[in-house]
Amino acid sequence: MKKKKILGLALALVITLSSLVGCGSNGTFTGQADGKHGAIKVEVKIKDEKIQDIKVIESSENIVLSEPVFNKIKNVMVEKNNSNVDAISGSTETSKGYIAAVQNALEKAGIKSDGDKIVVEHLKEEETTQEYDVVVIGAGGAGFSAALEAEKAGAKVVILEKMPSIGGNTLISGGEMNAPETWVQKNVGIENDSAETFYNDTLKGGDNKGLPEMVKILADNAKSAAEWLRDEVNVKFIDDKLFQFGGHSVKRALIPEGHTGAEMISKLKIKADEKEIPVKTETEVKELIVENGKVTGVKAKNLAGQDLTFKATKGVIVATGGFGSNVEMRKKYNAELDEKYMSTDTPGTTGDGIVMAEKAGANIMNMEYIQTYPICNPETGVISLVADSRFDGGILVNQEGKRFVEELERRDVISKAILNQTGKQTYLLWNEKIDEISNTIDVHKSEYEMLIKQGLLYKADTLEDAAKFFNIPVDELKKTAERVSGFAKNGKDEDFKHRGKLVSLEEGPYYIQKAIPSVHHTMGGLVIDTETRVLDKDGKIIPGLYAAGEVTGVVHGTNRLGGNAITDITVFGRISGVNAAQGK
Ligand code: ADP
Repeated sequence: MKKKKILGLALALVITLSSLVGCGSNGTFTGQADGKHGAIKVEVKIKDEKIQDIKVIESSENIVLSEPVFNKIKNVMVEKNNSNVDAISGSTETSKGYIAAVQNALEKAGIKSDGDKIVVEHLKEEETTQEYDVVVIGAGGAGFSAALEAEKAGAKVVILEKMPSIGGNTLISGGEMNAPETWVQKNVGIENDSAETFYNDTLKGGDNKGLPEMVKILADNAKSAAEWLRDEVNVKFIDDKLFQFGGHSVKRALIPEGHTGAEMISKLKIKADEKEIPVKTETEVKELIVENGKVTGVKAKNLAGQDLTFKATKGVIVATGGFGSNVEMRKKYNAELDEKYMSTDTPGTTGDGIVMAEKAGANIMNMEYIQTYPICNPETGVISLVADSRFDGGILVNQEGKRFVEELERRDVISKAILNQTGKQTYLLWNEKIDEISNTIDVHKSEYEMLIKQGLLYKADTLEDAAKFFNIPVDELKKTAERVSGFAKNGKDEDFKHRGKLVSLEEGPYYIQKAIPSVHHTMGGLVIDTETRVLDKDGKIIPGLYAAGEVTGVVHGTNRLGGNAITDITVFGRISGVNAAQGK
């Protein structure tokens, strides 16, 4: 602790010194402010009171989401010589932190920016009518998988994305992907998995409300989809570790490098660039064009306000994700999931694809099944990935210091159990020994530091200390930890039948984190057939219209199991690309 403070002081001194060097307005000035995941530090070069250049010298922000901030906002600031720029939607916190950091540097140079906020605009005008074979709506995992396969099958493809950044929910997820009989299962010695076991777990995990024929496709194609990501898209998966999410009978979730969806999305984007597939961001699809009962294209609007028509000679693929960020739509289908819930989702997750396809006659199903993720930040609703220590032995306790649910239960079960506790919240408790196995603090360092700063996570030497920080009765927490340590020794959880491995909590240091459930995944959506063709209310194919990913409602039933979204979007995204390219 002490060491850190001294370092901080030294840093402050360096900043002060460097700003002194620049006095008189010419020079390089450093500035700092908090972004979404910690400090953003910039270096601003000034000459004759003009901003020449801005460099980010430190940042823990999401690489994909911060890209338009660090480039587009920078270009506007330099071009207009003004730091009074509006935030970029979808990256609001990062934008605010970046702008504040630049302003902090400018203050040191004695420069103030005023006037109205400048909106970062789409600067390029484009052709108002464009023709492709396949038009993909949405640049998440499903959209990219679809586009790459369509291109491989010979189609001229475009991806349209309404947000300034690509990636959707795929990007901000943990990125884990379930598949049976993979090379990693082999490496770690798991031999008792099969497509059939995966199928059974998934169907049962959704209370048999997913369509069996679709779950079968998911299970049968998961392994080849993982190998496609590994071999053709160059996604790096960790070779000797797997997750076992709730509801799965064995460890089968591949973990991407960095433990987030950023690995998958950045590699998909590199591949799409290589194949020269245009990805048009800030291009919002407003409606599907239907001619004589066939979907032949889409109408869209870009940020410059241009109305655009994208013709699709072979097919349109809807890959717009779910509707977790659309409170009105949530309430329409399930009154319980109203504004009292925050969401882990990106702002673009508003169900547009469902609404547009319905207008073209599409059928929908399972709309009332909306999943909350149990362990999220109580202030922002953002999913906690540091808390993945739960999969390696972290336990959940309530305000009274007692366990109340099996930690590897399904997300819906844990979420409901949490909402029945005092304050509708839970605390996740783990120790150094568990962290050595899960390594979540190291891989999600910026989230860890942010939670500490927010007072939502605490590192304690003793259990007394941990309990006191959150006003939990010390004796009860100690009793709970002792009981769990006993179960860990006997290999049997007598209270909640933990299906993984409990770990002794006898030794500290400890980590304790406050959490709440937040809306995470919408299981319902468009009805598609086994070839991903969208069906109408009579079960007939709507020609020219395909869908894949969270926008569809056929796979997960009442509850999506952890790690099944990445499998879903990759498997069905790929199928939709191949079929749309052939106009099948
Ligand atoms: P999936 O996991 O199914 O791939 P994601 O949430 O990862 O879904 O991605 C869906 C993407 O679709 C998001 O980036 C979202 O911003 C984008 N999107 C949603 N609605 C529209 C729309 N009307 N036009 C263009 N893009 C859209």
